[in-house]
Amino acid sequence: MQRIAVIPGDGIGREVTAAAHTVLDAVAARHRLDLAYDEFDWSCERYTTEGAMMPPDGVDRLRPYDAILLGAVGWPGVPDHVSLWGLLIPIRRAFRQYVNLRPIRTFAGVASPLRDAASVDFVVVRENVEGEYSEIGGRLNRGFPDEFAVQESVFTRTGVTRIVDYALELARARRGYLTSATKSNGIVHTLVFWDEVVAERAAQTPDVRWDAEHIDALAAKLVLQPQRFDVIVASNLFGDILSDLAAAVAGSIGIAPSANLDPTRTHPSMFEPVHGSAPDIAGQGVANPVGAVWSAAMMLDHLGHPAAAADVQAAIEACLADPGTRTRDLGGTADTAGVVRALVAHLGG
Ligand code: ATP
Ligand code: MG
Repeated sequence: MQRIAVIPGDGIGREVTAAAHTVLDAVAARHRLDLAYDEFDWSCERYTTEGAMMPPDGVDRLRPYDAILLGAVGWPGVPDHVSLWGLLIPIRRAFRQYVNLRPIRTFAGVASPLRDAASVDFVVVRENVEGEYSEIGGRLNRGFPDEFAVQESVFTRTGVTRIVDYALELARARRGYLTSATKSNGIVHTLVFWDEVVAERAAQTPDVRWDAEHIDALAAKLVLQPQRFDVIVASNLFGDILSDLAAAVAGSIGIAPSANLDPTRTHPSMFEPVHGSAPDIAGQGVANPVGAVWSAAMMLDHLGHPAAAADVQAAIEACLADPGTRTRDLGGTADTAGVVRALVAHLGG
């Protein structure tokens, strides 16, 4: 038996995790998977009534699970740093989820804002625990004309090596092409170091072609020629920006999935749609569940069920190709329940 901790969170997070759960039940029946679920009500709602997103021993309670399925956390009136630092970052750090994986692809039936975006299929591998998002730094002379702020980035050999190695392995399993996002012409310590480690590790992996692109040029190429990319490896900040850009290129935030992985499998990994709690449509039953369902497919893959994951992926593709089973954000008229019914039907349920 494999045990999954479900954190539905806030807003449409609850609707889309319920949808993903139903689809997981259908695919589990088809592939005879033994999956068990426990639900945790950790959320901004809990923060409002109890003063914390999760209990003090929250991370320890998640530790025994094989994976974590998260909906979305965030709600108007609760500052973003509360949901971020009260739940997401402690989980990512405690469980060494140093890879943030965001696959991007176009689907028949999903319009991209780009004129010619057919056959886009790449993955952004974002470093998830160090880099630019550090707490090191400070401010001096507050309120005076000579006030200043300093923010340090942290790039460790261990941290850069392991993310680059993960991306190289992934590229090898895909089309054999890695792009490293850098800016070592302007950021002359950390990103020169990043470039050196990428070159060293890539030299050990001769069957992967690679190049380095400065982040500004890379952002432009992602819009102009998204088809040419296979795997992109990027630092925490660059990866954050590129993955949102890339999700927009693919056509809708409602379908974009993500995984926070501990590739060593020492700790549970966490799977969540890219979108937030979407207060503007929460409770209406119209949220697009595809981002959460695709995230659940990534979870199945990580748990060692690639055939089940591929079936869910095929069901998503069929569902998006049919105008009758697309949600409003994709120009359709289906509601969440309608999409779930279609996905379950495709899985033979
Ligand atoms: P967060 O602050 O949690 O990142 P956000 O408020 O910046 O979230 P979202 O909650 O992702 O962003 O919502 C952005 C817009 O996209 C909203 O108009 C929302 O309704 C829409 N949206 C997001 N996810 C979905 C979905 N799954 N289905 C339909 N529409 C969605
Ligand atoms: Mg928000």
